[in-house]
Amino acid sequence: MTDLALGVDIGGTNLRVGAVDGTGTVVARQDRPTPAGAGVDPDVAGRELVRTVADTARLVAGQAGLAPGSHVPLGIGFAGGISTEGEAVYGSNVSTRNFPLRDGVVEALGHADVLVVNDANAATWGEYRHGIGQDVRHLVMATVGTGVGGGTVVDGVLVAGSQGFGGEIGHMVVARDGWRCTCGHRGCLEAYASGQALARHARDLLAAGGHSVMEGLEVVEPRDVTAAAGEGDALAIEAIGRLGSWLGVGLASLVSLLDPELVVLGGGVSDHIGRWLLPATTRAMTNQMFAAAYRDPPAVRLATLGDTAGMIGAAEMARARGRTRA
Ligand SMILES: [Zn+2]
Repeated sequence: MTDLALGVDIGGTNLRVGAVDGTGTVVARQDRPTPAGAGVDPDVAGRELVRTVADTARLVAGQAGLAPGSHVPLGIGFAGGISTEGEAVYGSNVSTRNFPLRDGVVEALGHADVLVVNDANAATWGEYRHGIGQDVRHLVMATVGTGVGGGTVVDGVLVAGSQGFGGEIGHMVVARDGWRCTCGHRGCLEAYASGQALARHARDLLAAGGHSVMEGLEVVEPRDVTAAAGEGDALAIEAIGRLGSWLGVGLASLVSLLDPELVVLGGGVSDHIGRWLLPATTRAMTNQMFAAAYRDPPAVRLATLGDTAGMIGAAEMARARGRTRA
């Protein structure tokens, strides 16, 4: 077992740590609830986040057979904007603000081989290097989970932007003055195509008199909709179709901008609803596509690495940086 690196995926709900070898295989992993979810005091959240990352990384390193104190590259994908110094500047589904995440983890672990990137960018890189995107050079990925994230690879290069805020597909505006987003603005793609939006689409259909196994639930949560869809509930499947049509419209703009070979759908929610989400998204994207009669639409595929994409991508980025450092 050579060339191990640790990858950490900090999402709005879950924090995952994996030991990843040079072939992209996860040889050990641990999952924790994200201690810095929305609503937690920002200062407390930052300290808790560092402690959880460091403790879990040590545990996973031990499980992977690394001796205590071994220094292997550690990559962290964080659900938000990242400064060039590795500060967790802002995330709409996590509560830390301008928090020195990289410095905190470096201090806690006692070595400096730590890289912090955006979580959806990490997942995109994971799929590009070791998942569904292995054979392409131009890829767009959308992750549907607590929010909507994403990433783009253009001619083999991950586009993270000048300040680390690039790839935030979820905050592209798809409806001026539309539904309120977690970021505070209105009409973002995330407001229509996230897990929370899935529940809202279902509630709207129920309020309009639709029949469903979800009738009578006091509060409809995203997991209620995915469970109902799994039972064949037509209203739940229609709610997924609505989400997919919004997602497809957002992706059509990206196809106009970037002309990718492949569009990948990933994220925790899409892992459960992919078989309905894929056709609805593909249809909406293709209908909205520029010059559709004169070109082939990009393939739209489900991600293949599941919830390991982020940790694999983060570990890979940290390992590659270690190799190229002067
Ligand atoms: Zn937004």
